[in-house]
Amino acid sequence: MSYTVIARKYRPQTFAAIVGQQPIVITLKNSLRSGKTAHAYVLTGPRGTGKTTIARLLAKALNCHHLSEEGEPCNTCPSCRDITAGKSLDVLEIDGASNRGIDDIRTINETVHYATSSSRYRIYIIDEVHMLTKEAFNALLKTLEEPPPNVKFFMATTEPHRIPPTIISRCQRFDLARISTRAIAEKLQEICKDLGREASPEALRLIAYRAEGGLRDAESLLDQLLSYSPILSVETVTQQLGLTPRRYFFCLDEHFSQGNAAYAFTLVGEIMDAGYDPLLFLENLAEHYRLILLLKYDPGAIESHHFDCVETDSRAAYVASAVYYTLEQCLFILDLLVEWLQKIAKTPHLRIALECILTAILRSRYRVSLDALVLRLQELETQIKQSPQPLPPVATPLPPVATPLPVNKDKKEPSKIEAAIAKQVESPTEISSSQEVEEKTKHSSHYENIVHFAAVELDGNIKIHNIHKR
Ligand SMILES: [Zn+2]
Repeated sequence: MSYTVIARKYRPQTFAAIVGQQPIVITLKNSLRSGKTAHAYVLTGPRGTGKTTIARLLAKALNCHHLSEEGEPCNTCPSCRDITAGKSLDVLEIDGASNRGIDDIRTINETVHYATSSSRYRIYIIDEVHMLTKEAFNALLKTLEEPPPNVKFFMATTEPHRIPPTIISRCQRFDLARISTRAIAEKLQEICKDLGREASPEALRLIAYRAEGGLRDAESLLDQLLSYSPILSVETVTQQLGLTPRRYFFCLDEHFSQGNAAYAFTLVGEIMDAGYDPLLFLENLAEHYRLILLLKYDPGAIESHHFDCVETDSRAAYVASAVYYTLEQCLFILDLLVEWLQKIAKTPHLRIALECILTAILRSRYRVSLDALVLRLQELETQIKQSPQPLPPVATPLPPVATPLPVNKDKKEPSKIEAAIAKQVESPTEISSSQEVEEKTKHSSHYENIVHFAAVELDGNIKIHNIHKR
């Protein structure tokens, strides 16, 4: 007996069975009930969110002989059965990626005027429509403008920006959203129940979370995981998906609280020896700090949906770990991790990169935040202003503007040069400019001191223009 994968076996056969996308489903059912369906639709959205499923259901509903009052197809009439089995001669599914040329669209244009075999409508479902060439889109445009009354076009794409606006403006466009983790997990739970398989709610939420809003991806993962283990737990899912177990992160938190930067090398050694993917490790680490940050903002978040895929024991550990960090430290670490996530794939020395990242995290315990630093500087500034005694000069005084020439004692009359120098020294404008120079030097030395102070405190991470802005 051949095996049908979960994603196909549990493909929705009614609008009511579609997970998420409620506004779109309601709109389509209303238009079916009132008989006001458009001649062309564009369905866009991330992969696995139900674009093709909705297109097929709409085709089924339009050709159904016994459409229910709610606008649901009956799934029992010959047309419904043919469409479910993929045998209908009037519902043609075309893959836009492999039929992307002008000749393929010309073939469609030639057949649109043919009578249907047994259904009310001849329906063309073009998947990955963004892959069509410019010429193919132009050829399609004419047909889309004035299609025969019994012809409908449903186009599905993950990249709507690659469809010419002239095409989109002739269609009704529906943007499918990512499906929530909770909704996906509920669907997975239903599937497991139907299959008679045991799975913990946290494990299913973890699968749903990893699918990032795509139900098909989640179903494929579930299929794969059920073949591996008879009972699904968070441990089996973590192990099978190659995720780093949380215990490593909680260990890191403890060493952070002790300021043990050398632990970075131990942890990286363990991760590499255990064969965990460094990129996935970094992603998981960022997720770990994201959860801690959430707790720093709101300790009540432990009960929120963000912790849905965290098992009970680990939730208690998160509450304990959150105590070790300040909000600023969490923000700094997350910033660092996000920056590294963008560039780690290009790094040839993964081990060293990971050691650097973890060392920076562990050392960040002693880091003075920029906000704290600015506050301290402001306090110092206020103290200086209020201080009655002038501060000792910060910089060494400048050499005198000009060295006076030796006075010629023999002559009573000064030489021309001496007279000029004397005039310069006496000149009030020159005196004021020399004071300004000294003032400026003082100011710039003070400014340099601030920059040096900031640079040392911030491990050299500060840029001078930041100080300027402040
Ligand atoms: Zn039917």
